[in-house]
Amino acid sequence: MPTRAKTFDSHYPVTGDAIGTFPIHTDADVRVAVAQARIASDKWVALGFRGRKKVLLAWSKLLMERIEECTALISMETGKPVSDAKLEASLAAGHLAWAARHAQEVMRTSHRSPGAVMANMSATVERSPVGVVGVIGPWNYPIFTPMGSIAYALAAGNTVVFKPSEFTPGVGVWLARTFAEVAPFSNIFLCVTGLGDTGRALCEAHVDKLAFTGSTKTAMVVAATCAKTMTPVVLECGGKDPVIVAHDADIKRAAENSIWSSMSNGGQTCIGAERIYVVESVADEFIAAMLDAVKNIKPGEPGVGNYGPATMPKQLEIIQSHIKDALKSGGRAIYGGAKSVKDPYVEPVILVDVPEDSMAMQDETFGPTIIINRVKNVDEAIILSNASRYGLGASVWSKRQGKKIAAQLHCGMVAINSTISFAAVASVPFGGVKDSGYGRIHGPEGILEFTYARTIVRARFQLPITFTSFKRTAGNDKLIIKLTRLLNGRFG
Ligand code: NAD
Repeated sequence: MPTRAKTFDSHYPVTGDAIGTFPIHTDADVRVAVAQARIASDKWVALGFRGRKKVLLAWSKLLMERIEECTALISMETGKPVSDAKLEASLAAGHLAWAARHAQEVMRTSHRSPGAVMANMSATVERSPVGVVGVIGPWNYPIFTPMGSIAYALAAGNTVVFKPSEFTPGVGVWLARTFAEVAPFSNIFLCVTGLGDTGRALCEAHVDKLAFTGSTKTAMVVAATCAKTMTPVVLECGGKDPVIVAHDADIKRAAENSIWSSMSNGGQTCIGAERIYVVESVADEFIAAMLDAVKNIKPGEPGVGNYGPATMPKQLEIIQSHIKDALKSGGRAIYGGAKSVKDPYVEPVILVDVPEDSMAMQDETFGPTIIINRVKNVDEAIILSNASRYGLGASVWSKRQGKKIAAQLHCGMVAINSTISFAAVASVPFGGVKDSGYGRIHGPEGILEFTYARTIVRARFQLPITFTSFKRTAGNDKLIIKLTRLLNGRFG
């Protein structure tokens, strides 16, 4: 008798009720999916930029036509408000359309100077898709986040096998199903479901590149697994994003945006504000504005709360431990506190004067909590912002010094007088440094991430002297040395 495939359930985080059952794809299933994607790869490349653009724009259009269906599903699997899901899905469709429209231009062949010694050569660099891209996604933005890899990889001419988070498998399956409706043939974009082990199988399945978005802890395991097969990786990991409020900031706007950045989606945003450094001279005014901005913000089920529950129940413990540790080590709660963690919701928490070495300042909290620490000046704010193992995004509030401050921050993205704005601009790269990962999605860099450079150097005519032959003479040797000295190494 054949054994039945193992399955797992996805849940509605508000009640914990099971809302869907999905297969746990095995190593063999994943290998088959990658093999199918590899077979489809040649045809997808052969379709050319125009053909792929047509398919991807049709998919982007379909996502928007079905936005109600898509966002109802996102809301059910994550517990977030439908309105947040709509924003996320619209941004994802926008990125998809941008990648579709710009891949050709970004990947065009570039002509390089061959240099004086190689003047008889023409030198060009072509961009080729890597082949099959594996994408592993998180649950917090189940369409926007993985689409940052999926859209850009597909537009570059790759086929894709996607393993969504076990908390949001339905969204992954829905994406693959809608893509199939516009696809000219099958296996261009496939979805495999399962737990971490299915992700591990994808890392071991000899894909040509693995794009991972998730926690830093898992990213390290993913990178180590991929290293065994020399599979290159893009790692989009966690953050501890700082906000700097300078003396010349628009205080009210900075506070409103920081409350939204730290609390929306229940604080489950990789680029959400987690710590604020406010210059002493405006600290009292800023703290008062934060208290004003937070006073009507409440969690609740979709349709009721400004944000939903903790999608992943085990995060509640981490949030509570950070709050408790911050308070034990000398911080003060000025709004909410340790009792604000009420399974499945966490009410807003604002902490002040929290020691820099406490867990709440060092590690990603991923809850609707925000810490405000006072600093003497902007220089101190910059030093403290950079004193983190993470380096994903940052936000700077200053009317006159924004660019100067931004240039000194060790992170991948900075929003000046705005928050999270960089994620919505499709033409700019997204990604971090340090423990926040490496590689880039979005923008031209995000397309190039899923390609490799192929150099072509062609002899346009033959020179009377030859260096790459056993017939090379002593005279040729002298000439190359003389030329090198004369040009002072300027070959390019
Ligand atoms: P996670 O690391 O727990 O899981 C991410 C994915 O990895 C899931 O699909 C999971 O099944 C898979 N996985 C687990 N073990 C694996 C293994 N051994 N090999 C391969 N895959 C494995 O992360 P999460 O809880 O889903 O997401 C939250 C985290 O993601 C936060 O840290 C957040 O900051 C980060 N995040 C980062 C970005 C970004 O762009 N930088 C965006 C969104 C979320």
